[in-house]
Amino acid sequence: MELRESLVHLSDNYIEQKEEIFTGNVLANHLRKVIPSLVASLLGAQDRYYVKGSAGQSNWANIPWIAIMDLTITKSPQNGFYLVYLLREDGKGLYLSLNQGVTDLKKKYGRSVSRALEISGSDFREQLKYSKNGLIEGPIDLAASQKGSLGNLYEHGAIYSLYYESGNFPDNETLENDLEEFITLYLQLVLNLSVGSSGQAEDDEMGLSIEDGTKLRQHKRVERNQALSKKVKKVQGFTCKACGFDFEKKYGEVGKGFIEAHHLTPVSEIKGRKVGLDPVKDFAVLCSNCHRMIHKTEFVDKVEEFRTSYIVS
Ligand SMILES: [Zn+2]
Ligand SMILES: [Zn+2]
Repeated sequence: MELRESLVHLSDNYIEQKEEIFTGNVLANHLRKVIPSLVASLLGAQDRYYVKGSAGQSNWANIPWIAIMDLTITKSPQNGFYLVYLLREDGKGLYLSLNQGVTDLKKKYGRSVSRALEISGSDFREQLKYSKNGLIEGPIDLAASQKGSLGNLYEHGAIYSLYYESGNFPDNETLENDLEEFITLYLQLVLNLSVGSSGQAEDDEMGLSIEDGTKLRQHKRVERNQALSKKVKKVQGFTCKACGFDFEKKYGEVGKGFIEAHHLTPVSEIKGRKVGLDPVKDFAVLCSNCHRMIHKTEFVDKVEEFRTSYIVS
């Protein structure tokens, strides 16, 4: 099935199918399974992106969605920012939207969250300065009936969007190109994002070119992703792969469970879409000293070479 066909199928049938029983519904399954796997196959680099579609949890959602999330940013549409296809509540059209999760802003701003989303959306646009025929900047109209609902917040969270009117979708090639362009925008935002919460360059970024600074920040973002580093430590344990240091042996109870996850994706590949996130082969656990040092050597993605060159002599 092509992208166009799968999206048309959704927009043409959702309103009608919403009247049927939810459990076991074929269209709901189309949203959960068919569209996401199709989109994922178009993106390549599948371990970087997580594609999830939903027609609702135990009952029909007013506004069904298919989200494309960069795993170094978020694995849930509640948080961070991501791409999402959103069908209007009245079924009249579908948006492809670079949009934002609301959970964190909601905690911070409570009922003013809509306004906060719009402000943060304009900050994102300021970074990208993108323009294109038909591009919508800022809020979109999903015909959301409930104020404060998730659908309503998606309206305010939109950074950039494209609109496809039901019954008048562009051809498949255009849809695929739009997706590709939005993925590029998304990746650009991901790479721009600074790691530290202060937004200031950290000391090891000083003196690096913009290009290398970007790569280093991307590297650190992957390593500081708690879900990922937890998995790495679980499978690799807590002994430094380079020097054998064991924090618990040296420091006792306070050192228990302490080790750093170092990401091994070769620097030359970091800027592209590919980013290996396999806890076994794409990471190595290192003590803080070795981690700091390996970054200063040419063996930043080769722990064994680092070990034989600098540690075993
Ligand atoms: Zn070490
Ligand atoms: Zn590292």
